[in-house]
Amino acid sequence: MKTALITGGTKGIGKAIARAFLERGYEVIMNYDRDEKAALAAQEEFNMMGYCPVLHRADVSDEMQVSDMFSELLSLYGKIDVLVNNAGISFYDVIQNTSPAIWDRIFEVNVRGAYLCSRAVVDNMLGRNCCIINIASVWGEVGASCEVAYSASKGALIAFTKALAKELAPSGVRVNCVSPGVIDTDMNSRFGPDEVEDLISRIPLGRTGRPAEVAAACVLLAENTYITGEVLSVGGGFAK
Ligand code: NAD
Repeated sequence: MKTALITGGTKGIGKAIARAFLERGYEVIMNYDRDEKAALAAQEEFNMMGYCPVLHRADVSDEMQVSDMFSELLSLYGKIDVLVNNAGISFYDVIQNTSPAIWDRIFEVNVRGAYLCSRAVVDNMLGRNCCIINIASVWGEVGASCEVAYSASKGALIAFTKALAKELAPSGVRVNCVSPGVIDTDMNSRFGPDEVEDLISRIPLGRTGRPAEVAAACVLLAENTYITGEVLSVGGGFAK
């Protein structure tokens, strides 16, 4: 049985990715950092569907916590076949109000987190036809006003993906990005109805995306063994 670790996997897009891999017969580990109640509720929801995902609490930006998480998981399962670096945070304001602490935290979670988790799992993946999938954002491709730190972090994640894909391809490990557009999750709950309408008016497919649609792209990237170094946009044609 293949094993997939989804960071930030207990809500929003991460939870949908966890579900998609459970449905494909994977052993799934759902990482989360803080909200234990939501994590247990997600696990219970999947249990009711007949699946048995495992929960693992760790802040992906913390080197020790990441190192402990992988030691524990690898001693338990022996291998991880798919790592989805999904955990992410955003911040919406003009650059004058983006403090250095906020800037650093965005990069710590969105970029350092993916780096630490990838680094911790790579040795286990070498020569085994495994893959790493990073959840970037269309903002990382085209930039968003009032989301400079977030856009820059996702742009860095895209460059990280392309470089790591080249480094690991000779060892049979694939590295790709999924780049979602506007997806219905808590991350976008700050937008009022007018802002959502404005965003939708700029999406060629005329609607926001569903977490399950991002998850389907992850399954595709996990299972197609001849794709690496790609940025797969799941944005309804947005920002093209
Ligand atoms: P969300 O806020 O619902 O979920 C984010 C998840 O990341 C949560 O489970 C949270 O607990 C986890 N997380 C945050 N910091 C963490 C840390 N330090 N360690 C471990 N886990 C941590 O948001 P979402 O919309 O589901 O976002 C998932 C990913 O998709 C993020 O990387 C986000 O940037 C990306 N994304 C979202 C959208 C969108 O429109 N929703 C668009 C493009 C990209």
